[in-house]
Amino acid sequence: MSSIPKTMSGILIEETGGADVLKWKTDLPVPELKEGEILVRNEFIGVNFIDTYFRTGLYKSPLPLITGKEAGGVIIALHPSLSSSSSSSPLPLKEGDRVAYVADHAYAEITAVPARCAAPIPSELATDTAAASLLQGLTALTFVREAAGLARPQAAQDSKLGASEARPWVLVHAAAGGTGSMLVQMLAVHGARVIGTAGGEEKCAIARGNGAQWVVDSKKEDVVERVKEITGGKGVDVIFDGVGKATFDGDLDMIARKGTLAVFGNASGPVPPVDLLKLGAKNIKLMRPVLFAYIATKEERDAYTKELFELLVAGKVKVKIHEVYPLKEVARAHTDLEGRKTTGKLMLKI
Ligand code: NDP
Repeated sequence: MSSIPKTMSGILIEETGGADVLKWKTDLPVPELKEGEILVRNEFIGVNFIDTYFRTGLYKSPLPLITGKEAGGVIIALHPSLSSSSSSSPLPLKEGDRVAYVADHAYAEITAVPARCAAPIPSELATDTAAASLLQGLTALTFVREAAGLARPQAAQDSKLGASEARPWVLVHAAAGGTGSMLVQMLAVHGARVIGTAGGEEKCAIARGNGAQWVVDSKKEDVVERVKEITGGKGVDVIFDGVGKATFDGDLDMIARKGTLAVFGNASGPVPPVDLLKLGAKNIKLMRPVLFAYIATKEERDAYTKELFELLVAGKVKVKIHEVYPLKEVARAHTDLEGRKTTGKLMLKI
């Protein structure tokens, strides 16, 4: 067993608020392993918009808090309940293995992770790639499959969906962002006709590069009018909206009859309570999907992770890293993300 330090560096939130509440500490206690957990020395930590919600208090958590939902690194210890000699060991994990995980408390040097949340990283993938793609890639894959109900790529090819007019119109807001980039690529793999929105020319070019066949510049153009024009007045069959408050009313206007509106985030603020009667005019299916409820069982998590890693290894889906910030400078990463200054994935490194 490698020697485990008693203290570690990390980011602590003692009170909710702006980016300045993210405090760098060098004397945090290394977490003690509980049954079923592994200790991971984090090498790359993903920044996700959800981290800002816990920081501001929009999403509640007891304080003080080490936030952060994803990372990749190396296993430095396993709880005895997981040792290879234990007959109940559910995973073939061992010290020294590289793993990526979606779990709590990632903004630190070392994190105690439930073993069922840790995925061994295939030898073909670098640790930063695996860590950068896991949360947003799983979000995109589960949402495309389960929220939009699109068939697996091969099934889509075998069915009539191959014909252009049978392929669903899908709109992705913030199509150059971390999750948006993954969604657009995943939708392209699933054969959808993808319209992306993005703020500014540079972001529009990135959205196009991700595979959006049509891109609308949300800073310059009237998104609703452009989308109606592109779809010949029909509107879009599915909308993936992680922007929230600022785009919700437009979504109701540009969605097609019987369309699915998946509002999955609050980048511009949470959507206020909705008058359900508004959905009746077009029989809209309104949903608020969350990744964690699609990967609640180990079987679901493992199956989707395997598929995501295969897509990455095959080069069918790529992750673009915007910047790797020193963990100490996490406040700058949050400010950039909330200030709409970024594209692709933001990462942290100790
Ligand atoms: P992004 O990289 O997409 O960054 C957010 C983007 O949103 C910005 O770059 C910007 O793109 C757009 N945006 C529009 N209006 C605003 C605004 N007022 N303030 C800030 N950004 C704005 O972030 P993530 O990929 O980390 O997250 C995107 C969304 O997806 C978030 O709402 C997040 O909570 C959600 N999410 C939800 C999950 C779930 O399970 N429900 C899982 C993962 C993510 P532009 O300038 O092009 O408009």
